[in-house]
Amino acid sequence: MSAPTGLSPALRSDLAVCGVAVDAPVRRRAGAGPSDDGHVLLGGIGTALPIVATSKYSVREGRLLLDGADLGMDVEPIARPAFYDLTTVDGIPYEQLARLHGSNVLATTVVQTCIRYDEEQRCRFCAIEESLRLGSTTAVKTPAQLAEVAEAAVRLDGVTQMVMTTGTSFGRDRGARHLARCVRAVLEAVPGLPIQVQCEPPADLAALAELRDAGAVSIGIHVESLDAEVRRRWMPGKGSVPMAEYRAAWREAVRLFGRNQVSTYLIIGLGEDPDELVAGAAELIEMGVYPFVVPFRPIAGTLAVDVDGVRPPSAAVVADVTERVARLLRRAGMQGSDQRAGCAACGACSALNAAGA
Ligand code: SF4
Repeated sequence: MSAPTGLSPALRSDLAVCGVAVDAPVRRRAGAGPSDDGHVLLGGIGTALPIVATSKYSVREGRLLLDGADLGMDVEPIARPAFYDLTTVDGIPYEQLARLHGSNVLATTVVQTCIRYDEEQRCRFCAIEESLRLGSTTAVKTPAQLAEVAEAAVRLDGVTQMVMTTGTSFGRDRGARHLARCVRAVLEAVPGLPIQVQCEPPADLAALAELRDAGAVSIGIHVESLDAEVRRRWMPGKGSVPMAEYRAAWREAVRLFGRNQVSTYLIIGLGEDPDELVAGAAELIEMGVYPFVVPFRPIAGTLAVDVDGVRPPSAAVVADVTERVARLLRRAGMQGSDQRAGCAACGACSALNAAGA
């Protein structure tokens, strides 16, 4: 995926931090991980941006404006997909089971609860159970439901890849086995659809082979930060998983899925020293793992916002870290667009693709 003409990493980073005043029909307000965005085509590329009514960036007649001045870039909100209007045979609206991300990614959280969601353990940037509380999704998606939705999304809305994430369960597989069942069912309904799965490192690494054998083509094992203090402070539950378990899972995943088919989120703005973040990204790249760097986004309903009042990082830091990581990725010949499915393949939540990675 190439960056849209005129979209520099600096502008992309500023947009990620400041958001844009635009009416985007495809958006979500809560969910797993660090995201709460509207989806637009920015210069023709699927991009997820915070919707901020007071932002200095706005959209008029399909053009991006900065303080009212035309920046020479087309912005087109992604239209509400047709599959949102369907319901399953058991009466659940498809929209509650999976969502359109960007213009062509179907995304779902197969288990919308997490063993770490009590106030003591919860990742402070995460709102996975908020959408459940708001009634906008269901706690557990069955394989049959997802197969039904995926078939419709591909047929009606041109979806070309799927991302399946999960809240963490108590089992040694950490939720991977249910993911594997869902992958199998979707591939029976839509043979060949590239699917990325996302989960914590399973205590039993054999679960990774089950995911590959089920037909997933790429995997995200998301650590969010490599800094011990940041992990303790921001992710008291998940941060207690030793880094050795992450490294073992990444290594096994690279062996099974291949170099650059494994990724991890690294969040900019959790207090980690930028040089250390970039050094950590270099270590991941060396292992064949794509570090998907994204800026921290304040989302209502998270502890970071409701309790801590954390602000987003500066656009300058986001651009600097992103450009340095992009340079390392380019040097290693690892492009997000070479991943067959998943967040790095989509790229909408990061400035990496504006930086050429
Ligand atoms: S990068 Fe990942 S989370 Fe963001 S829009 Fe794309 S698939 Fe969804």
